[in-house]
Amino acid sequence: MTLDTLDIEAALTDILARCHELSLRQRIASDEAHEAIGYFPVYFPEEIVHAAGLLPYALLGGGNRIEVRYADARIGSFVCSICRSTTELGLNHSLGEMAGFFAQPICDAAKHMAGIWGRNFPQQDPQILALPQNVNSPAATRYVYDEYQRLRAILAEKVGRAITDDEIRASLGVYNENRRLQRALYAIKRDDPSRLSSVEAYLLVRAGTRIRRERHNALLREALDLLARRRVRPMDKPRVVFVGGFCEQPPLEMIETIEDVCFIVDDDLLIGQRWITEDVPEVGDPVWALAESYIQRSASSPVQYDARKPKEETLMTMLREARAEAAIISAAKFCEPGLDDQLALSRRLDRERIPHLVLEFEEKMTSFEQMAMQVETFAETLLFE
Ligand code: SF4
Repeated sequence: MTLDTLDIEAALTDILARCHELSLRQRIASDEAHEAIGYFPVYFPEEIVHAAGLLPYALLGGGNRIEVRYADARIGSFVCSICRSTTELGLNHSLGEMAGFFAQPICDAAKHMAGIWGRNFPQQDPQILALPQNVNSPAATRYVYDEYQRLRAILAEKVGRAITDDEIRASLGVYNENRRLQRALYAIKRDDPSRLSSVEAYLLVRAGTRIRRERHNALLREALDLLARRRVRPMDKPRVVFVGGFCEQPPLEMIETIEDVCFIVDDDLLIGQRWITEDVPEVGDPVWALAESYIQRSASSPVQYDARKPKEETLMTMLREARAEAAIISAAKFCEPGLDDQLALSRRLDRERIPHLVLEFEEKMTSFEQMAMQVETFAETLLFE
């Protein structure tokens, strides 16, 4: 069946409306909570949870639609919003009785989340999945492997049966397809940004944190097919790279505000969803393949130190490969890793004389007028310089 232009737009609008609803959904459906394994950002080996038949559930905070009331009594006001609002979602029962909770020691705030969760929701058996301090050590893959095997054993106990290598390999296949589809989406953003807006790409990726990957793969396949046939009018806007959205997520309105005047041709939004940059080998020991991919074939973020991926060089590569003329260097309020990087990146961009704008955000922001003025002024200087 051939679709005309209007049909294609209508079909895309429908998919994006579904993604929007899924992305902003705060509540786990009551029939899903008992099989949901909640995990705190940035990256988590979802494949092992998927292979156990459970639902990996990325905890991405409460956005700007919830009021933090109960969590104020359990967590300091100087901690980033994602920790506070995630705790609120637990306390106000939005997350129901999840089957498990995992945090990782990516920063001081996140590493205390398992303790906070343990005090408040001990029945969810909160755990820390440890990460190697030195990913460049020859022992790093083995270390990650042992942690992943520990995760596998915990999940096996929850489901009352062993999780086989074949099941994990099958999950690697599902996730490899998901990675390929996400890479295709980002290629459109980079090569033909008039065809796919950043908000649309973001919603399409974020929807995957709420449904099983098989459904997400089907959704992305359908969206990519429609995008390829979308009739577009090329627009002329400055091309920028956005960084700072690796953990706490900026409000959707902030991405819209930037996108009104610039093309965001690459970013680190939800980088944990795209952490592994190539296919994970589907032969041999699947847990080893996953651990090795975490170390050897992975993205970069301020919460992982890797001497092979200096942060400044990573940004330079992003700018070059995305043919971007400028950068927006952002960080969530109270986010130590993000703010540390912001300084280093800003210095490097100054040295290279690459225009950049520094912005701070908080997921609970609701007013964007001032930011819009800053971004507009920045875009005008790029256009008329
Ligand atoms: S937003 Fe920053 S400080 Fe907060 S949990 Fe994430 S990495 Fe840590």
